[in-house]
Amino acid sequence: MPDGTQSPKRTIRSVAGLVAAGLIPAHGQAALNEVAKSYAIAITPAMQKLIASPSDPIGLQFIPDAAELITAPHESVDPIADEALSPVPGIVHRYPDRALLKPLLACPVYCRFCFRREQVGPDGGLLSDAQLTAAYAYIAAHPEIREVVLTGGDPLILSPRRLSGILAALSAIPHVELLRIHSRVPVADPALITDELAAALDVATPLFIALHANHAHEITPEAVAALTKLQRRGIPILGQTVLLAGVNDSEEALGDLFRAMLRARVKPYYLHQLDAAPGTARFHVPPARGRDILANLRGNISGTALPTYIYDRPGGLGKIPL
Ligand SMILES: *Cc1c(COP(=O)(O)O)cnc(C)c1O
Ligand code: SF4
Repeated sequence: MPDGTQSPKRTIRSVAGLVAAGLIPAHGQAALNEVAKSYAIAITPAMQKLIASPSDPIGLQFIPDAAELITAPHESVDPIADEALSPVPGIVHRYPDRALLKPLLACPVYCRFCFRREQVGPDGGLLSDAQLTAAYAYIAAHPEIREVVLTGGDPLILSPRRLSGILAALSAIPHVELLRIHSRVPVADPALITDELAAALDVATPLFIALHANHAHEITPEAVAALTKLQRRGIPILGQTVLLAGVNDSEEALGDLFRAMLRARVKPYYLHQLDAAPGTARFHVPPARGRDILANLRGNISGTALPTYIYDRPGGLGKIPL
């Protein structure tokens, strides 16, 4: 908060909202309105509270920038070829034993570096009941699928009732032995992790959550409380981080983040090299620098704090460790 006196109450969803909250100057609006036509804006109260300026580690992640209108030559609207690998709406099946299920494409916040930025948005991609049924049928017809990864968008903004229904349908498929949910909700909007939601996730099939967080500031006491609520239900939580210039591209920032995750009982799992989505070049960190940071951390931080540094190759070739 610019004046530090009141707590924000509502999610900012427009350029005018950013100006009203004092997060950007009024004269920057025209270019950002152009950005907003292509890429959704959402900054929850929990994240607003952490932003002191557009160029700090949290501001950079969520406040749009005119540079998003410039697509670099190597950038692509579908950097990892999700669409080409989608046999039925909502499913991405690239690795034999794992399938992604995207029940919706809305998120609590919209990250400026998102690799699915061309697809995600507030009014996009909620699968209908018929589409969900077709997705379950695809998984049921492919006995090689052992794990279903719910992603999107962010599945944890669905109602507990809807999540229960999805998890029950997946658990009923005999060869699905693992469930995973990729989410930013415990940090971006911890109030959504209610007892009712935690109960909906308490299913017989082992369920992991992969939490997306990029800076130690995101691991607030409210986020830790939300994570604890999930962990008390027997849900192990993994950490996923995108290496981002200006946000976390230093030994200090990543070390602090990984330690904050461990204190919240979150095991750092992946450090992602940025995918080449349009208008994200300002976040690029050379892989050599990422390798250096992790090498310098090793020896100075618990081995349990170190994730695998991973790159998802363009064209659907899959993930490789860097
Ligand atoms: C990343 C990804 C997964 C999950 O990969 P893990 O290495 O098991 O975390 C599954 N399917 C697709 C298409 C993916 O991009
Ligand atoms: S929460 Fe995930 S899917 Fe949504 S905008 Fe951020 S990175 Fe993209």
